[in-house]
Amino acid sequence: MTREVRVRFAPSPTGPLHIGGVRTALYNYLFAKKHQGTMILRLEDTDQNRFVPGAEQYIKESLAWVGIEIQEGPDQGGPHAPYRQSERKPMYRQYAEGLIEKGLAYYAFDTEEELEEMRKRLEASKMQPAYDSVSRMSMKNSLTLPADEVKARLERGDNYVIRIKLPRKEEVRFHDIIRGWVVVNTGQMDDKVLLKGDGMPTYHLANVVDDYLMGISHVIRGEEWLPSAPLHVMLYRYLGWEEVMPEFAHLPLLLKPEGNGKLSKRDGDRLGFPVFPLNWTDPKTGEMSSGYRESGYFPEAVVNILALLGWHPSDNQEMFSMEELIEAFSLEKVSKSGAKFDVNKAFWFNQQYLNKFDNSLVLDMIKSDWEANYGVLDSEEKKEYASKIVSLIKEKVQFAKQIVPSAHFFYNRPEEFDEQVVAKKWKENTSELLQKLGTYFVANHAISAADFENQFKLYCDETGIKSGEVLQPLRVSVSGEAMGPPIFEILAMLGNQEVVNRINACVDKLSK
Ligand code: GLU
Repeated sequence: MTREVRVRFAPSPTGPLHIGGVRTALYNYLFAKKHQGTMILRLEDTDQNRFVPGAEQYIKESLAWVGIEIQEGPDQGGPHAPYRQSERKPMYRQYAEGLIEKGLAYYAFDTEEELEEMRKRLEASKMQPAYDSVSRMSMKNSLTLPADEVKARLERGDNYVIRIKLPRKEEVRFHDIIRGWVVVNTGQMDDKVLLKGDGMPTYHLANVVDDYLMGISHVIRGEEWLPSAPLHVMLYRYLGWEEVMPEFAHLPLLLKPEGNGKLSKRDGDRLGFPVFPLNWTDPKTGEMSSGYRESGYFPEAVVNILALLGWHPSDNQEMFSMEELIEAFSLEKVSKSGAKFDVNKAFWFNQQYLNKFDNSLVLDMIKSDWEANYGVLDSEEKKEYASKIVSLIKEKVQFAKQIVPSAHFFYNRPEEFDEQVVAKKWKENTSELLQKLGTYFVANHAISAADFENQFKLYCDETGIKSGEVLQPLRVSVSGEAMGPPIFEILAMLGNQEVVNRINACVDKLSK
C-alpha cells in the first residue's frame, strides 16, 4: 500500500526566511501537489530565546507571495492543530518520560559550570567534548546518582534536562532519497537533550513527535539537518515508531556564486541581489534587508529560479510555470551537490517573464510610477500609447520598474544629447542632412515604422549619403540617447511633425 503523502515546512520564526528556506518550502509543495498530498506549515518556535516578532507573519507572507498554498497550518487549522509548537508544549513531556521508563533516556542535573568543566577536561585530553555514552558516566544524572538522590532532587524541584541515552556502539542506517544510504555510528553521536530545563522540548524531540503525530510521510529539508537525522532515526526506534518513520530527503545547500560556502546575506549585499523573499527590517537593530518582491522580481521568476537551484528536469527546459513544475518535479532528480546561485541567471529569468507578460499587464504593475512621471492614463488612447512604449522597452530591461525612466523621451523632448555620439558623428553637414530628412518624412507622409524606414532608405539613395552617417545622429536628436528601442518605431510613435520639431530643436541647441 502506498502511503498518503503528507509533508511539512517547519521553519523556526527566528528572523526573515532565507530564500534557501523558500526553496525547501517550494520542493515540499511541488512534491505534495504532484502526489495529491497535503502541505503543512508547522512553526517550530520552542526556542523562546530566539523568538523574533514579525517573523511568523513574514514567513506566511513570503509563502503566499510565491504561490505556495498551505493546507494545514496555524491559520488554516487542520486535524492536528495546533500547528505552533509552543502551543503544543504539554504534549511532549510524556514521550521524554516514557523513554526514561524504558531506560532509553535519563535525567541530567549538571549545572552550566559542570558542563563547561567537562568540555574543558575532554578537550585537554584531545577527546570530543561531548555528553555521550562515555562521559555521561562521570556526570550528575540518573544513571550515576543513587535512585533516592534522584528522587529527592526531582521532588525538590532541582533544575534538570532529559537526555537520550544512546548505545555506545551501534550502527544507525537510514535511506535518504537524495543521498542514498547514510550510515553513522552512535559512537560518534552525543546524548542530545530532549526536554529542556524550562519544560520545553528541544527541536529534536518536538520535530520527531510532531512528524509522527501529524502523519508526515516525507521529511524534505535542507542539508544542514542531515547531521540530526541519525538522532531522529534513533528517536523513532526508541519511541516504537520505526515502522511509520517518514522518508528523508536532504536538499543540497544554496552556495555563493563563486561556489564555496553557503549563500549569505553578505553575498547578496556584495553582488547586488536579495537573499530574502521580501524586505525585512530587523526589529532590534532596525537594519533593513532587501527582498525579491521589492526589488522588482516577479514571484513566477523567483519560483523558477529556485526550482532549478538543485533540481534538474530530464530535458533542458528552463522556463517552468508552477503547474509545469508540479508535473515535472521529482526528488530523485534533486542533486547531492550544492547549487551555485547565479545572479545573471536570476536577471535573465526575470526578463523572460517580463517579456512573456502582456504589455498592458506590465503597464498596470508600474502604473502609479508611470502616471507620476508622465501624467494620468485616463483615456484608451493614452493607455495604448503607453502600452506600445512598454512593448518597445521591455525587451531591453530586466525589471518592469526600469521601463519608466527609459520611457521619458516618448513624452518629453530631450534637453541633452549623448555627448559621445555628438563628438564622434556630428560632421559639418550632419545638421543640414537631418533637417532635410525631417522635411522629407513630412512631405512623404511617413506614419508607420515601415514608412519611416522605407523613406529613410530612399532619402539615402537619392542623396548618396551612407545610412551610417545619419542614423545615430537621428536617434540622438529625437531621443537624446545613443541606444534604445528600434529607431523607426520611435519615429512612428512621435509622428513626423514632432520628429521635425525635435531635429530642429537639437540642431538649434548644438549650434549654440
Ligand atoms: N525548525 C527547523 C528549521 O528551522 C526544521 C528542520 C526540519 O525540517 O526538520 O528549519
